[in-house]
Amino acid sequence: MQILPISALTDNYIWLLHQEKQAVVVDPGEAQGVIDYLVEHEITLNTIWLTHTHYDHVDGVSALLQQFPQCVVTGSGRWGAVNWPVTEGSRFAAFGQQVSVWHIPGHTEDHLAYILTDDESRQHVFCGDTLFSAGCGRVLPGAMAKMFASLQRLNSLSPDTLLYPAHEYTAANLRFAHAIEPDNEAIQKASRQAETLPTLPVTLAHERAINPFLRISQPQVIAAAIQHGLPRQNANQPLAVFTCLREWKNQF
Ligand SMILES: [Zn+2]
Repeated sequence: MQILPISALTDNYIWLLHQEKQAVVVDPGEAQGVIDYLVEHEITLNTIWLTHTHYDHVDGVSALLQQFPQCVVTGSGRWGAVNWPVTEGSRFAAFGQQVSVWHIPGHTEDHLAYILTDDESRQHVFCGDTLFSAGCGRVLPGAMAKMFASLQRLNSLSPDTLLYPAHEYTAANLRFAHAIEPDNEAIQKASRQAETLPTLPVTLAHERAINPFLRISQPQVIAAAIQHGLPRQNANQPLAVFTCLREWKNQF
């Protein structure tokens, strides 16, 4: 099985998984780049996985269905184009490998992640707009605790897990990470490497070293949050640190 990114819109990646002329795409925000690749390589699109239904993740669905009418659309049942609804705990096979679905709310209420376990037991996580390299997605009003829990849950996976976010935001996120931890050498190294695109996928181990939203228990991260207005008495509350960082990033 091969997994590759197809660039779309300004900074989206549509992840394309294929094996033996059959393909899955994740979050097709537009169709043409996907169709071009599939036609050129004589591959059929079997399934579309949707993590959530923001326009930049779904606007290519109808054109793809015109080209590949047998294609199954998997995602939250709340969205009309989904003809194979999945939810927390759903399991199915893709290319003979197991895929599990997690409900990871925060960026949207019904955001999903697709976790594929390959033949070597390595996990590949298609996490949409929840976790980005060195960052995380914007949070729905009132959903900070949900987003925090979703990121903690992703962070519970094995360190060699590969993460496939839906946007190339890495360089900008690293500027924010550097402002929080100017002495962090892993962040400095990642910033130099972020000049070469794509920066994704990334391992969870890498994210634990550079992603402020997975590093909220680090003293330097807490100190930066206090400097940015976190009340000192809340410094031992991970959700308060997370909320401070996320609100800071909104203005950064
Ligand atoms: Zn989104």
